[in-house]
Amino acid sequence: MVANNGSENPKVEDNDVLASTQSVIHEALDKLGYPNEVYELLKEPMRLFTVRIPVKMDDGSTKIFTGYRAQHNDAVGPTKGGVRFHPDVTEKEVKALSIWMSLKAGIVDLPYGGGKGGIICDPREMSFNELEALSRGYVRAISQIVGPTKDIPAPDVFTNSQIMAWMMDEYSRIREFDSPGFITGKPLVLGGSHGRDAATATGVTIMIREAAKKRGIDLKGARVIVQGFGNAGSYLSKFMHDAGAKVVGISDAYGALYDPEGLDIDYLLDRRDSFGTVTKLFKNTITNKELLESDCDILVPAAIENQITHENADKIKAEIVVEAANGPTTLEATKILTERGILLVPDVLASAGGVTVSYFEWVQNNQGFYWSEEEVAERLEKVLVKAFDNVYTTAESRKVNMRLAAYMVGVRKMAEASRFRGWI
Ligand code: GLU
Repeated sequence: MVANNGSENPKVEDNDVLASTQSVIHEALDKLGYPNEVYELLKEPMRLFTVRIPVKMDDGSTKIFTGYRAQHNDAVGPTKGGVRFHPDVTEKEVKALSIWMSLKAGIVDLPYGGGKGGIICDPREMSFNELEALSRGYVRAISQIVGPTKDIPAPDVFTNSQIMAWMMDEYSRIREFDSPGFITGKPLVLGGSHGRDAATATGVTIMIREAAKKRGIDLKGARVIVQGFGNAGSYLSKFMHDAGAKVVGISDAYGALYDPEGLDIDYLLDRRDSFGTVTKLFKNTITNKELLESDCDILVPAAIENQITHENADKIKAEIVVEAANGPTTLEATKILTERGILLVPDVLASAGGVTVSYFEWVQNNQGFYWSEEEVAERLEKVLVKAFDNVYTTAESRKVNMRLAAYMVGVRKMAEASRFRGWI
Protein backbone atom coordinates (compact mmCIF):
# COMPACT_ATOMS: atom_id res chain seq x y z
CA MET A 1 0.00 0.00 0.00
CA VAL A 2 1.33 3.48 -0.87
CA ALA A 3 0.43 5.98 1.84
CA ASN A 4 -0.47 9.68 1.53
CA ASN A 5 3.08 10.63 2.36
CA GLY A 6 4.30 8.64 -0.64
CA SER A 7 6.13 5.96 1.32
CA GLU A 8 5.53 2.26 0.88
CA ASN A 9 4.08 0.28 3.78
CA PRO A 10 6.59 -2.55 4.47
CA LYS A 11 5.77 -6.10 3.32
CA VAL A 12 4.76 -8.35 6.20
CA GLU A 13 5.25 -12.08 6.76
CA ASP A 14 2.17 -12.95 8.76
CA ASN A 15 3.99 -14.24 11.86
CA ASP A 16 6.74 -11.61 11.89
CA VAL A 17 5.82 -9.59 14.99
CA LEU A 18 8.24 -6.73 14.27
CA ALA A 19 7.18 -6.26 10.64
CA SER A 20 3.51 -6.50 11.69
CA THR A 21 3.80 -3.80 14.33
CA GLN A 22 5.80 -1.60 11.92
CA SER A 23 3.07 -1.97 9.34
CA VAL A 24 0.32 -0.86 11.77
CA ILE A 25 2.48 2.06 13.01
CA HIS A 26 2.92 3.12 9.41
CA GLU A 27 -0.82 3.01 8.84
CA ALA A 28 -1.60 4.85 12.09
CA LEU A 29 0.88 7.67 11.38
CA ASP A 30 -0.45 7.95 7.88
CA LYS A 31 -4.04 8.25 9.13
CA LEU A 32 -2.89 10.94 11.58
CA GLY A 33 -1.15 12.82 8.76
CA TYR A 34 2.46 12.59 9.98
CA PRO A 35 5.31 12.73 7.45
CA ASN A 36 7.47 9.68 6.74
CA GLU A 37 10.33 10.88 9.02
CA VAL A 38 8.16 10.10 12.02
CA TYR A 39 7.72 6.53 10.82
CA GLU A 40 11.47 6.23 10.16
CA LEU A 41 12.13 7.32 13.74
CA LEU A 42 9.55 5.07 15.39
CA LYS A 43 9.85 1.89 13.35
CA GLU A 44 12.84 0.56 15.36
CA PRO A 45 14.04 1.03 18.96
CA MET A 46 16.50 3.90 19.41
CA ARG A 47 18.84 1.61 21.32
CA LEU A 48 19.36 -2.13 21.47
CA PHE A 49 21.84 -3.60 23.89
CA THR A 50 23.03 -7.22 23.56
CA VAL A 51 24.77 -8.82 26.53
CA ARG A 52 26.47 -12.13 27.31
CA ILE A 53 26.03 -13.34 30.87
CA PRO A 54 28.28 -16.06 32.32
CA VAL A 55 26.59 -18.12 35.05
CA LYS A 56 28.21 -20.76 37.29
CA MET A 57 25.77 -23.68 37.11
CA ASP A 58 25.11 -26.09 39.99
CA ASP A 59 27.12 -28.86 38.32
CA GLY A 60 30.25 -26.66 38.35
CA SER A 61 30.17 -25.78 34.64
CA THR A 62 29.86 -22.21 33.34
CA LYS A 63 27.10 -21.41 30.90
CA ILE A 64 26.97 -18.21 28.85
CA PHE A 65 23.48 -16.75 28.33
CA THR A 66 22.53 -14.11 25.76
CA GLY A 67 20.27 -11.24 26.82
CA TYR A 68 18.85 -8.06 25.33
CA ARG A 69 17.48 -4.70 26.41
CA ALA A 70 15.70 -2.58 23.80
CA GLN A 71 14.75 1.07 24.41
CA HIS A 72 12.26 2.15 21.83
CA ASN A 73 11.78 5.89 22.29
CA ASP A 74 12.44 8.11 25.32
CA ALA A 75 10.95 11.38 24.07
CA VAL A 76 8.05 11.21 26.54
CA GLY A 77 10.13 10.03 29.52
CA PRO A 78 12.25 7.11 30.73
CA THR A 79 11.63 3.81 28.96
CA LYS A 80 9.68 1.11 30.76
CA GLY A 81 8.91 -2.55 30.24
CA GLY A 82 9.42 -6.10 31.40
CA VAL A 83 12.18 -8.68 31.11
CA ARG A 84 11.25 -12.13 29.86
CA PHE A 85 13.14 -15.36 30.48
CA HIS A 86 12.27 -17.76 27.68
CA PRO A 87 14.06 -20.16 25.29
CA ASP A 88 12.36 -18.52 22.26
CA VAL A 89 13.49 -14.93 23.00
CA THR A 90 14.95 -13.27 19.89
CA GLU A 91 16.34 -9.83 19.15
CA LYS A 92 13.44 -9.17 16.79
CA GLU A 93 10.85 -10.14 19.38
CA VAL A 94 12.42 -7.90 22.05
CA LYS A 95 12.40 -4.99 19.58
CA ALA A 96 8.70 -5.51 18.79
CA LEU A 97 7.88 -5.87 22.47
CA SER A 98 9.62 -2.55 23.23
CA ILE A 99 7.52 -0.82 20.57
CA TRP A 100 4.36 -2.31 22.08
CA MET A 101 5.38 -0.90 25.47
CA SER A 102 5.63 2.59 23.95
CA LEU A 103 2.13 2.17 22.53
CA LYS A 104 0.73 0.92 25.85
CA ALA A 105 2.26 3.89 27.68
CA GLY A 106 0.72 6.23 25.11
CA ILE A 107 -2.72 4.60 25.31
CA VAL A 108 -2.95 4.87 29.11
CA ASP A 109 -1.12 8.21 29.06
CA LEU A 110 1.89 7.40 31.26
CA PRO A 111 5.03 9.60 31.30
CA TYR A 112 7.12 6.81 29.74
CA GLY A 113 8.45 5.46 26.48
CA GLY A 114 8.69 1.72 25.86
CA GLY A 115 11.50 -0.68 26.70
CA LYS A 116 11.82 -4.44 26.90
CA GLY A 117 14.37 -7.04 27.89
CA GLY A 118 14.80 -10.73 27.42
CA ILE A 119 17.21 -13.55 28.17
CA ILE A 120 17.39 -16.74 26.12
CA CYS A 121 17.03 -19.41 28.81
CA ASP A 122 14.56 -21.93 30.16
CA PRO A 123 13.85 -21.08 33.81
CA ARG A 124 11.78 -24.30 34.13
CA GLU A 125 15.06 -26.21 33.97
CA MET A 126 17.12 -23.95 36.24
CA SER A 127 17.63 -24.05 40.01
CA PHE A 128 16.86 -21.15 42.34
CA ASN A 129 20.61 -20.41 42.68
CA GLU A 130 21.18 -20.43 38.93
CA LEU A 131 18.21 -18.10 38.39
CA GLU A 132 19.52 -15.70 41.03
CA ALA A 133 22.98 -15.66 39.41
CA LEU A 134 21.45 -15.06 35.97
CA SER A 135 19.22 -12.23 37.23
CA ARG A 136 22.11 -10.49 38.99
CA GLY A 137 24.43 -11.04 36.01
CA TYR A 138 21.88 -9.43 33.67
CA VAL A 139 21.63 -6.34 35.90
CA ARG A 140 25.43 -6.00 36.05
CA ALA A 141 25.54 -6.25 32.26
CA ILE A 142 22.89 -3.56 31.63
CA SER A 143 23.47 -1.34 34.69
CA GLN A 144 24.89 1.54 32.63
CA ILE A 145 21.75 1.98 30.54
CA VAL A 146 19.00 1.44 33.14
CA GLY A 147 17.89 3.31 36.27
CA PRO A 148 14.84 4.95 37.88
CA THR A 149 15.04 7.94 35.55
CA LYS A 150 16.41 6.09 32.48
CA ASP A 151 14.79 2.72 31.89
CA ILE A 152 12.73 0.77 34.42
CA PRO A 153 12.40 -3.03 34.06
CA ALA A 154 9.50 -5.17 35.34
CA PRO A 155 8.23 -8.77 35.20
CA ASP A 156 7.15 -10.47 31.98
CA VAL A 157 6.89 -14.09 30.78
CA PHE A 158 8.52 -16.46 33.36
CA THR A 159 9.87 -13.67 35.59
CA ASN A 160 8.31 -12.75 38.95
CA SER A 161 8.61 -10.65 42.11
CA GLN A 162 11.52 -12.77 43.45
CA ILE A 163 13.52 -12.10 40.29
CA MET A 164 12.66 -8.38 40.56
CA ALA A 165 13.90 -8.42 44.17
CA TRP A 166 17.30 -9.92 43.18
CA MET A 167 17.62 -7.42 40.35
CA MET A 168 16.76 -4.49 42.62
CA ASP A 169 19.27 -5.68 45.22
CA GLU A 170 22.02 -6.02 42.62
CA TYR A 171 21.32 -2.56 41.20
CA SER A 172 21.27 -1.00 44.68
CA ARG A 173 24.66 -2.61 45.46
CA ILE A 174 26.18 -1.29 42.23
CA ARG A 175 24.86 2.24 42.87
CA GLU A 176 25.56 2.04 46.60
CA PHE A 177 22.15 3.39 47.59
CA ASP A 178 18.71 1.87 47.97
CA SER A 179 16.99 2.13 44.57
CA PRO A 180 13.46 0.70 44.74
CA GLY A 181 12.36 2.83 41.75
CA PHE A 182 14.83 1.00 39.48
CA ILE A 183 12.40 -1.85 38.89
CA THR A 184 8.68 -2.59 39.39
CA GLY A 185 6.78 -5.76 40.23
CA LYS A 186 8.75 -6.12 43.48
CA PRO A 187 7.44 -7.94 46.56
CA LEU A 188 5.34 -5.67 48.82
CA VAL A 189 7.98 -5.64 51.58
CA LEU A 190 10.57 -4.23 49.14
CA GLY A 191 8.43 -1.34 47.90
CA GLY A 192 6.10 -3.24 45.61
CA SER A 193 2.57 -1.95 45.05
CA HIS A 194 -0.69 -3.46 46.13
CA GLY A 195 -2.42 -4.94 43.13
CA ARG A 196 0.68 -5.28 40.89
CA ASP A 197 0.66 -9.11 40.78
CA ALA A 198 -2.92 -9.22 39.53
CA ALA A 199 -2.77 -5.93 37.59
CA THR A 200 -2.67 -7.33 34.05
CA ALA A 201 -5.61 -9.62 34.78
CA THR A 202 -7.52 -6.85 36.59
CA GLY A 203 -7.05 -4.68 33.51
CA VAL A 204 -8.19 -7.46 31.16
CA THR A 205 -11.26 -7.97 33.38
CA ILE A 206 -12.14 -4.27 33.00
CA MET A 207 -11.68 -4.55 29.20
CA ILE A 208 -13.90 -7.65 29.04
CA ARG A 209 -16.59 -5.87 31.07
CA GLU A 210 -16.50 -2.77 28.83
CA ALA A 211 -16.46 -4.83 25.60
CA ALA A 212 -19.33 -7.02 26.86
CA LYS A 213 -21.37 -3.87 27.59
CA LYS A 214 -20.87 -2.72 24.00
CA ARG A 215 -22.12 -6.09 22.72
CA GLY A 216 -24.95 -6.41 25.23
CA ILE A 217 -23.46 -9.60 26.71
CA ASP A 218 -24.17 -10.27 30.38
CA LEU A 219 -20.97 -11.45 32.08
CA LYS A 220 -23.03 -13.61 34.44
CA GLY A 221 -23.16 -16.98 32.70
CA ALA A 222 -21.03 -15.86 29.71
CA ARG A 223 -18.77 -18.68 28.48
CA VAL A 224 -15.09 -17.71 28.61
CA ILE A 225 -11.99 -19.46 27.27
CA VAL A 226 -8.61 -18.37 28.62
CA GLN A 227 -5.58 -19.63 26.71
CA GLY A 228 -2.56 -19.67 29.06
CA PHE A 229 -2.45 -20.18 32.82
CA GLY A 230 0.52 -17.98 33.72
CA ASN A 231 0.33 -14.72 35.67
CA ALA A 232 -2.36 -13.10 33.51
CA GLY A 233 -4.33 -16.24 32.62
CA SER A 234 -4.58 -17.71 36.11
CA TYR A 235 -5.69 -14.50 37.86
CA LEU A 236 -8.06 -13.77 35.00
CA SER A 237 -9.74 -17.20 35.21
CA LYS A 238 -10.32 -16.55 38.90
CA PHE A 239 -11.72 -13.05 38.32
CA MET A 240 -14.05 -14.30 35.56
CA HIS A 241 -15.21 -17.19 37.74
CA ASP A 242 -15.83 -14.81 40.68
CA ALA A 243 -17.78 -12.44 38.39
CA GLY A 244 -20.21 -15.27 37.61
CA ALA A 245 -18.88 -16.09 34.14
CA LYS A 246 -18.45 -19.74 33.18
CA VAL A 247 -14.78 -20.49 32.43
CA VAL A 248 -15.21 -23.37 29.98
CA GLY A 249 -11.60 -23.65 28.79
CA ILE A 250 -8.04 -23.07 30.01
CA SER A 251 -4.62 -24.21 28.78
CA ASP A 252 -0.90 -24.29 29.42
CA ALA A 253 2.08 -24.92 27.12
CA TYR A 254 1.36 -28.68 27.10
CA GLY A 255 -2.38 -28.89 26.43
CA ALA A 256 -5.85 -27.60 27.22
CA LEU A 257 -8.96 -28.47 29.21
CA TYR A 258 -12.49 -27.80 27.98
CA ASP A 259 -15.81 -28.44 29.71
CA PRO A 260 -19.02 -26.79 28.44
CA GLU A 261 -20.42 -26.99 32.00
CA GLY A 262 -17.53 -24.87 33.34
CA LEU A 263 -14.21 -25.89 34.92
CA ASP A 264 -13.42 -26.04 38.64
CA ILE A 265 -11.12 -23.02 38.59
CA ASP A 266 -10.26 -23.02 42.31
CA TYR A 267 -9.09 -26.64 42.05
CA LEU A 268 -6.99 -25.89 38.95
CA LEU A 269 -5.41 -22.83 40.58
CA ASP A 270 -4.54 -24.94 43.56
CA ARG A 271 -2.79 -27.54 41.41
CA ARG A 272 -0.88 -25.28 38.98
CA ASP A 273 2.90 -24.90 39.39
CA SER A 274 4.67 -21.53 39.42
CA PHE A 275 5.06 -21.63 35.61
CA GLY A 276 1.33 -22.14 35.12
CA THR A 277 1.51 -25.85 34.26
CA VAL A 278 -1.56 -27.87 35.25
CA THR A 279 -2.87 -29.93 32.29
CA LYS A 280 -0.22 -32.66 32.76
CA LEU A 281 -2.36 -33.90 35.66
CA PHE A 282 -5.29 -34.75 33.37
CA LYS A 283 -6.00 -37.45 30.80
CA ASN A 284 -8.80 -35.81 28.81
CA THR A 285 -6.85 -32.92 27.39
CA ILE A 286 -7.22 -31.26 23.98
CA THR A 287 -4.64 -29.20 22.10
CA ASN A 288 -4.27 -25.41 22.32
CA LYS A 289 -5.34 -25.27 18.68
CA GLU A 290 -8.58 -27.14 19.45
CA LEU A 291 -9.22 -24.93 22.47
CA LEU A 292 -9.06 -21.71 20.43
CA GLU A 293 -11.71 -23.08 18.05
CA SER A 294 -14.03 -24.33 20.82
CA ASP A 295 -17.43 -22.84 21.60
CA CYS A 296 -17.49 -19.73 23.82
CA ASP A 297 -18.70 -16.11 24.00
CA ILE A 298 -15.41 -14.51 25.03
CA LEU A 299 -11.93 -15.73 24.07
CA VAL A 300 -8.83 -14.46 25.87
CA PRO A 301 -5.45 -15.45 24.42
CA ALA A 302 -3.17 -14.98 27.46
CA ALA A 303 -0.09 -16.94 26.39
CA ILE A 304 2.30 -16.14 23.55
CA GLU A 305 2.49 -14.61 20.05
CA ASN A 306 0.85 -15.74 16.80
CA GLN A 307 -1.93 -17.96 18.15
CA ILE A 308 -4.83 -16.67 16.03
CA THR A 309 -3.68 -16.68 12.41
CA HIS A 310 -5.22 -16.80 8.92
CA GLU A 311 -5.49 -20.56 9.45
CA ASN A 312 -7.90 -20.50 12.39
CA ALA A 313 -9.43 -16.97 12.41
CA ASP A 314 -12.40 -18.26 10.43
CA LYS A 315 -13.05 -20.92 13.04
CA ILE A 316 -13.08 -18.71 16.14
CA LYS A 317 -16.55 -18.97 17.75
CA ALA A 318 -16.27 -16.09 20.24
CA GLU A 319 -18.07 -12.78 19.79
CA ILE A 320 -15.37 -10.92 21.72
CA VAL A 321 -11.61 -11.55 21.67
CA VAL A 322 -9.55 -9.76 24.33
CA GLU A 323 -5.76 -10.05 23.95
CA ALA A 324 -4.13 -10.46 27.36
CA ALA A 325 -0.89 -11.70 25.74
CA ASN A 326 1.37 -9.56 23.60
CA GLY A 327 0.87 -10.20 19.87
CA PRO A 328 -1.41 -13.28 19.93
CA THR A 329 -3.30 -12.35 16.73
CA THR A 330 -1.61 -11.82 13.37
CA LEU A 331 -2.53 -8.93 11.09
CA GLU A 332 -4.30 -11.14 8.60
CA ALA A 333 -6.29 -12.73 11.42
CA THR A 334 -7.15 -9.26 12.77
CA LYS A 335 -8.65 -8.48 9.38
CA ILE A 336 -10.65 -11.70 9.26
CA LEU A 337 -12.00 -11.29 12.81
CA THR A 338 -12.99 -7.67 12.12
CA GLU A 339 -14.74 -8.62 8.89
CA ARG A 340 -16.63 -11.30 10.78
CA GLY A 341 -17.90 -8.62 13.21
CA ILE A 342 -15.96 -9.97 16.19
CA LEU A 343 -15.00 -7.24 18.68
CA LEU A 344 -11.22 -7.49 19.15
CA VAL A 345 -9.67 -5.62 22.09
CA PRO A 346 -5.98 -5.42 21.09
CA ASP A 347 -3.01 -6.29 23.31
CA VAL A 348 -1.63 -2.75 23.58
CA LEU A 349 -4.91 -1.69 25.21
CA ALA A 350 -6.09 -4.91 26.88
CA SER A 351 -2.86 -5.72 28.73
CA ALA A 352 -1.96 -2.17 29.74
CA GLY A 353 -3.09 -2.74 33.34
CA GLY A 354 0.30 -4.24 34.22
CA VAL A 355 2.38 -1.25 33.23
CA THR A 356 -0.21 1.13 34.72
CA VAL A 357 0.19 -0.36 38.20
CA SER A 358 3.96 -0.50 37.57
CA TYR A 359 3.75 3.25 37.07
CA PHE A 360 1.83 3.56 40.36
CA GLU A 361 4.57 1.49 42.05
CA TRP A 362 7.31 3.76 40.65
CA VAL A 363 5.39 6.90 41.78
CA GLN A 364 5.04 5.44 45.29
CA ASN A 365 8.77 4.56 45.36
CA ASN A 366 9.75 8.04 44.20
CA GLN A 367 7.62 9.79 46.82
CA GLY A 368 8.21 7.20 49.56
CA PHE A 369 4.51 7.25 50.38
CA TYR A 370 2.41 4.16 49.82
CA TRP A 371 -1.20 3.73 48.69
CA SER A 372 -3.88 1.34 49.92
CA GLU A 373 -5.23 -1.51 47.81
CA GLU A 374 -8.46 0.48 47.28
CA GLU A 375 -6.58 3.56 46.06
CA VAL A 376 -4.66 1.50 43.51
CA ALA A 377 -7.83 -0.25 42.29
CA GLU A 378 -9.76 3.02 41.98
CA ARG A 379 -7.01 4.74 40.00
CA LEU A 380 -6.50 1.73 37.72
CA GLU A 381 -10.22 1.53 36.97
CA LYS A 382 -10.33 5.23 35.99
CA VAL A 383 -7.26 5.05 33.73
CA LEU A 384 -8.39 1.91 31.89
CA VAL A 385 -12.03 2.86 31.34
CA LYS A 386 -10.86 6.16 29.86
CA ALA A 387 -8.36 4.34 27.60
CA PHE A 388 -10.99 1.86 26.41
CA ASP A 389 -13.48 4.66 25.62
CA ASN A 390 -10.81 6.65 23.82
CA VAL A 391 -9.81 3.73 21.57
CA TYR A 392 -13.42 2.60 21.00
CA THR A 393 -14.53 6.11 20.01
CA THR A 394 -11.52 6.53 17.71
CA ALA A 395 -12.36 3.21 16.01
CA GLU A 396 -15.97 4.33 15.49
CA SER A 397 -15.28 7.88 14.35
CA ARG A 398 -12.33 7.00 12.06
CA LYS A 399 -13.99 3.78 10.85
CA VAL A 400 -10.95 1.64 11.61
CA ASN A 401 -10.52 -1.59 13.57
CA MET A 402 -9.69 -1.46 17.29
CA ARG A 403 -6.02 -2.37 16.70
CA LEU A 404 -5.42 0.49 14.31
CA ALA A 405 -7.41 2.84 16.59
CA ALA A 406 -5.26 1.81 19.58
CA TYR A 407 -2.07 2.45 17.59
CA MET A 408 -3.40 5.86 16.54
CA VAL A 409 -4.05 6.78 20.17
CA GLY A 410 -0.77 5.23 21.37
CA VAL A 411 1.60 6.72 18.85
CA ARG A 412 0.42 10.33 18.98
CA LYS A 413 2.04 11.48 22.24
CA MET A 414 5.38 9.92 21.28
CA ALA A 415 5.33 11.58 17.87
CA GLU A 416 4.41 14.96 19.38
CA ALA A 417 7.07 14.71 22.12
CA SER A 418 9.72 13.78 19.52
CA ARG A 419 8.68 16.78 17.44
CA PHE A 420 8.81 19.24 20.37
CA ARG A 421 12.28 17.96 21.24
CA GLY A 422 13.35 18.79 17.70
CA TRP A 423 14.13 15.18 16.75
CA ILE A 424 11.95 15.24 13.65
N1 GLU B 1 5.55 -7.00 31.06
C1 GLU B 1 4.35 -6.26 31.18
C2 GLU B 1 3.85 -5.82 29.82
O1 GLU B 1 4.19 -6.39 28.80
C3 GLU B 1 4.46 -5.11 32.19
C4 GLU B 1 5.54 -4.11 31.94
C5 GLU B 1 5.77 -3.16 33.11
O2 GLU B 1 5.09 -3.30 34.11
O3 GLU B 1 6.59 -2.27 32.95
O4 GLU B 1 3.04 -4.94 29.70
